[in-house]
Amino acid sequence: MVLDKEDGVPMLSVQPKGKQKGCAGCNRKIKDRYLLKALDKYWHEDCLKCACCDCRLGEVGSTLYTKANLILCRRDYLRLFGTTGNCAACSKLIPAFEMVMRARDNVYHLDCFACQLCNQRWMLYFPELH
Ligand SMILES: [Zn+2]
Ligand SMILES: [Zn+2]
Ligand SMILES: [Zn+2]
Repeated sequence: MVLDKEDGVPMLSVQPKGKQKGCAGCNRKIKDRYLLKALDKYWHEDCLKCACCDCRLGEVGSTLYTKANLILCRRDYLRLFGTTGNCAACSKLIPAFEMVMRARDNVYHLDCFACQLCNQRWMLYFPELH
C-alpha cells in the first residue's frame, strides 16, 4: 500500500480552556470534558466521524484522513484513495479499491493482465508477428 502522507491529519484530544468552543460538526457549543482538535477546528468526540463508515474517529486512532472534502478513517481512506502499486503492464497506478491480478511479484489491472495473456497466446501461435 502506498499512502500519500499529506492526507493524514493528527487529532488531539484536549480539555477545553477559557471560552467555550463551537463544534465544527454540529455548530453547538462543546460542553464535554474533552473535545477533539483537528484541521484547526474543534469537534465533539461524537461529531468527528468518518464520512464512509460513521465510526468515531477519536476512538479508532489519532489520525484522520482528508481528501476531496471528505473526512475518513484510515481504512476507508486506503480503500478509496490508496494504491496497490503500479501495473506491471501499463505502469499506471492501481487504486486500492480496484480488483487486480497478481503474478509473482507483479500486479496488473485485470484488463492489462488479460491483454498480456492474449499477447502471449499470440506469440505462441504466431511468433512471426512479434
Ligand atoms: Zn458537535
Ligand atoms: Zn471509516
Ligand atoms: Zn495496467
